[in-house]
Amino acid sequence: MKIIMLGAPGAGKGTQAKMIAEKYSVPHVSTGDIFRANIKNGTELGKQAKEYMDAGKLVPDELTVKILLDRVAQDDCKNGYVLDGFPRTIPQAQVLEDALNKLGEKIDYAINVDVPDENIVKRMSGRRACLKCGATYHIEHIPPKQEGICDTCGSELVLRDDDKPETVLNRLKVYHDQTQPLIDFYSERNVLKTVDGTRDLKDVFADIIAILG
Ligand code: ADP
Ligand code: AMP
Repeated sequence: MKIIMLGAPGAGKGTQAKMIAEKYSVPHVSTGDIFRANIKNGTELGKQAKEYMDAGKLVPDELTVKILLDRVAQDDCKNGYVLDGFPRTIPQAQVLEDALNKLGEKIDYAINVDVPDENIVKRMSGRRACLKCGATYHIEHIPPKQEGICDTCGSELVLRDDDKPETVLNRLKVYHDQTQPLIDFYSERNVLKTVDGTRDLKDVFADIIAILG
């Protein structure tokens, strides 16, 4: 099963993608997590990506597409995957589609987690992330058991640099300009499913399970 998560930054793509990955035993592939791991490890890719991420811009397609295609070519992705944060532009979607076509494969579902802009800034300022294992919390809605500490790996939780309100507004604009057109792209391919992402995370997940079966 090959699934794409669509939606604005902060809509809950990562939260739902992790739950889908666990239930359906497929890897959760997040380009944002891959970039953050590279930044943490001080790689050349990390240095290049950080500049764009901190400004709320997209990392250029030339850098992004290769790391994604390399990742989904790995063995653990043979039976499918859930993509979170990729594609974010029409050219990225086209490259992925071409690569899959060559293998006689296709995306099965593009799940659009729909949350209006008004809710997003609040969600993002409350998001706390574990940069070690990629777990995500929310200080009000989904708090960790111990404040500031990751339930999964015990590392310190941080407010991501790009979750500051001024950067979030840039990211929302970039989303509407460059990523939202993907809703039509996948709708035309008859794989688009939209869920109401403003509901409790368990209700959102129940809606997604009803779609995936
Ligand atoms: P995205 O991957 O789309 O950027 P996240 O999954 O990281 O978004 O979620 C953004 C923030 O909103 C996080 O702090 C997360 O814990 C919180 N969140 C996710 N889903 C919900 C929900 N259904 N209700 C309330 N808060 C949520
Ligand atoms: P995310 O963790 O998905 O919110 O991504 C954080 C940031 O990483 C984004 O704001 C972009 O700067 C960058 N990024 C992640 N995925 C992509 C992508 N597919 N294309 C371009 N930039 C990306």
